[in-house]
Amino acid sequence: MPKIHLMIIDTHCHLDSLLESSVDFLDSLSIFQNDHLTPHFIAMSVSPDNWSATLKLSLLYPNIHASLGIHPWYVTAQSRASLQSLEDLLNVECVVALGEIGLDFSATYQHSKLFQMDVLEAQLSLAEKFSKPISIHVVKAHNELYQSLRQRSMTGIIHGLGSSLEVAQNYVDCGFKIGVNGVLLRGNAHRYHALVRYFGTEHLVLETDYPNVKLPGQAKSNLHDSIRVAEQVATLLGLSFDDVLKTLNDNAEQIFQLSSS
Ligand SMILES: [Zn+2]
Repeated sequence: MPKIHLMIIDTHCHLDSLLESSVDFLDSLSIFQNDHLTPHFIAMSVSPDNWSATLKLSLLYPNIHASLGIHPWYVTAQSRASLQSLEDLLNVECVVALGEIGLDFSATYQHSKLFQMDVLEAQLSLAEKFSKPISIHVVKAHNELYQSLRQRSMTGIIHGLGSSLEVAQNYVDCGFKIGVNGVLLRGNAHRYHALVRYFGTEHLVLETDYPNVKLPGQAKSNLHDSIRVAEQVATLLGLSFDDVLKTLNDNAEQIFQLSSS
């Protein structure tokens, strides 16, 4: 009997390079195919400069879904002026989310703190207005982010979250899921392992953050690394790969509503 294909949803990846070369993408697709998996990708953008590339990809490939937004690293004094075009683009059918957005108060990005907070608030308001989920990048700004999210009614993903259990619980209480990626395969990622063990599959979704995260021992990041991340979740929780994948996909589907997009 042929094996049923399961869906595997990568909730956070950056696919701009695919417009120049599709070799890696096609390689990964054949690996998914061999494993009887049907992949879907939520493709992030980081600034107005790559909104059209992200949209183009989602129009070219039915399993790529666009997420548009301004990442905190790219926030400038001029960012506010781009928000009207963002609002116009949110009406496009293939845009399933706002992202990657958020706050990064690490030393390198401290200088834009006030602009970051202003642009985040504006993007959260757009997400509420269009009832779209958000994909969040947060570094050293959990308090500020939590204060913003708790006053709003929205859903989404805190991507690559490696925080304390308490911080993660606050986000889960606000209706957010935790995105787990290849960092989970590092032997020393104790905090991350603890998060997965504590929350179980109910509050997790898969991501690769391609091409930014490499699995231990690998020379480059791959889109099919999501398979290894799901295997690692299964190992940590003592569950079967199929059960993990089904729950994590249900979580992602619930947020991004892919079947209706
Ligand atoms: Zn990212």
